[in-house]
Amino acid sequence: MTTEQKNIRKKLQATDQMNRIMTVYFYGLNEAATSGNKKVAWCTSVGPAELLRAMGFAVHFPENHAAMLGATRMSTDMIPAANAIGYSPDICSYLTADIGAYLKGITPLSKAYKGIESIPKPDVLVYNTNQCRDVQDWFAWYAREFSVPIIGITSPKNINEVSSAHIDDVTRQIEALVPTLELISGHKLDMDRLRETVSLSRQCTELWKEVLETATATPAPLTFFDGTIHMGPAVVLRGTPEAVEYYQVLLAELKQRIAEGVGAVEDESLRIYWDGMPVWGRLRQHSDLFAGLKANVLASTYCSSWIFQAFDAQDPFRSMAKAYLELFIVRSDAYKEKYIKEMLAKFRIDGIIYHDAKTCPCNSNNRYGMPQRLEAETGIPALVISGDLNDLRCVSDEQTKTNVEAFIEQLEEGK
Ligand code: SF4
Repeated sequence: MTTEQKNIRKKLQATDQMNRIMTVYFYGLNEAATSGNKKVAWCTSVGPAELLRAMGFAVHFPENHAAMLGATRMSTDMIPAANAIGYSPDICSYLTADIGAYLKGITPLSKAYKGIESIPKPDVLVYNTNQCRDVQDWFAWYAREFSVPIIGITSPKNINEVSSAHIDDVTRQIEALVPTLELISGHKLDMDRLRETVSLSRQCTELWKEVLETATATPAPLTFFDGTIHMGPAVVLRGTPEAVEYYQVLLAELKQRIAEGVGAVEDESLRIYWDGMPVWGRLRQHSDLFAGLKANVLASTYCSSWIFQAFDAQDPFRSMAKAYLELFIVRSDAYKEKYIKEMLAKFRIDGIIYHDAKTCPCNSNNRYGMPQRLEAETGIPALVISGDLNDLRCVSDEQTKTNVEAFIEQLEEGK
C-alpha cells in the first residue's frame, strides 16, 4: 500500500469564521499591549483564564503562540537561541521555541497579522502547574525579562480521584490571586462578571464536546487534525460569546455532514485514536498520510483536554478549581487507562497511535507500559511513534511513514 493518493480531507466551511474571530482576538491583544487601554495577562492553557477575563485583562496564551511557531515550522530554528542561554534541548520545546523566538525578535503573528510587531508585553504572568513544571519556568523567565509579577497555582498531580481536599487547596490558591490581580488591573473583582464568564466557558466546553463527539458517527465528519486547528477558540477565547457562537456554527456544519453521510476522510475504513501532542510542523503530512490510507484519526486525548464539565456559574471558584484538576494530564495512569478505554469504545476505534514527544514527557503516555496494558485488555493494537511537538530534529518522516503504513496494513488484516 502506498500513500501516493491525493489528500482527501475536506475543508470545513466554518474555518473562515474561526479565522475572523482569531484575527479580532489577536488585534485586540495587540491594541491592549500597545495602547495600554487594557492590562495584559499571560495565562497557561489551563490556568485561570475565566478569572483574568472577568477582571478585564486581555489574555495572551504563550502555548498558543508556541504552537503557531510549530505549525509554521519556525520553531526548530528558534530553539537553539534558548539552548544558548541555558534552557536544555530536552525540556519543553514550546518553552524553548517561544523564548528563542523572543530572543531573536521573531513572531509568527507578524506574518499572519499585518501591523503586529511582537507578542503583547505582559503586566502579569499567571500559571497553573497542573500540566507540568515547565510552564512556571517559562513564565519565570519572562517575569525577569519584563520585570513584572508572576503568580500562580501549584497543582496536585497524578490524582486518581479528585477529592474535596484537592478542590479546597486549588480553590484557595485561585482566590489568593485576586488581591494582586485587583492591584494590577486597578479595579475590584465583580462576582457577577465572573459568574457570566464561567457560564460562557461552560457553554463553550459543552459545544466543543458535542463537536468532538460528532466523530462517533460513521463516517466521522472531522479528524483529529481538524480538531487541533478548530480548538483554537476553546483555548484562547473560552469565557467569551464569540467562542460560543463559533462552536454553534461548526457544530451545525458537522451535523449537516452526518445527515448527508459525508465523512472528513473519503472511504473511511479504519478509525484511529491519537494519544499525546500533535507534531505541529507535520499536521498536513500526517493528515495526508492517514487519509491516503483511508484511515481517519478521529478522536484524541489532546483535543478532549479542553472539555471542562465542572464549570458552574453558581460556584465559580470551586468549579474552576475542579475543572482544572479533572484534566487528563493531572490524573494517575489508572484513571488515564480507564478514560482511554472508554474513548476507544465510544468512538469504535480500530487502533491507537501514541506520540512519544521527546520534550513533553507529561503528554507522552507510552513510557510506563500503558500501550501494552491497554492492548492486552482491549485487543486494540497500538503503535508508538517517536517525535516531538515543536522540535522537528526529533522527527523522522521516513520512519513515521513506514511505521504507520505497516500498522495500517496490520489493522486491515486483523479486521
Ligand atoms: S505539557 Fe508539555 S508541551 Fe505543554 S507546556 Fe508542559 S512540557 Fe510543554
